[in-house]
Order: sequence, then structure tokens, then C-alpha cells
Amino acid sequence: MNRLYHDSEDWVAQGRCRAYDPEIFFPVSTTGIGRADTERALEVCGGCTVRRECLRWALRAGEADGVWGGTTPEERRYMRRELAPAV
Ligand code: SF4
Repeated sequence: MNRLYHDSEDWVAQGRCRAYDPEIFFPVSTTGIGRADTERALEVCGGCTVRRECLRWALRAGEADGVWGGTTPEERRYMRRELAPAV
């Protein structure tokens, strides 16, 4: 992927999640009642060709809710806190 494409948000149109119910990407929780939706969303992300771009966007935007780029909100909080310089 070239840098121009990479820096734009064109990746959104390529997201695998577009073919799925958006609600599974915004479960009420990642455990308990929301666990099944979370696992389903992570499974969809696992086969997404723009996962990396999506995760980068979510980290830069500070997206606090939902599954983005194959990560849960808790995982992104950890990444921002511990791994931000490497992303
Ligand atoms: S990584 Fe997941 S949330 Fe991001 S575009 Fe792909 S399917 Fe959608």
C-alpha cells in the first residue's frame, strides 16, 4: 500500500466489517453479556485486509469504544500507554 493511500481514510471502504452488523463492533462489554459480540467482531477483523490501517487510525484518534483493527478498547488503552512510540 502506498503512503498516500495509507495516510488517507480510503481503507474504510475496504473494511470487512461493512458486510456485518455494526452493533457487534460496539458490544456493551468485552466480557459477560458482550463477550460473544466481541469475539465475533475480533474474528471478522482477523480476516480484514485493512486491519493495520484501521488500528493505526483508532490509536491516533484515541477511539475509546468498540472493536477497531482487531483490538478491544482495553487492548488499545494498553497500546497507547505502553507501546505508543512503536506504533
Ligand atoms: S479491522 Fe475490523 S473494524 Fe477495522 S475495518 Fe477491518 S473489519 Fe472493520
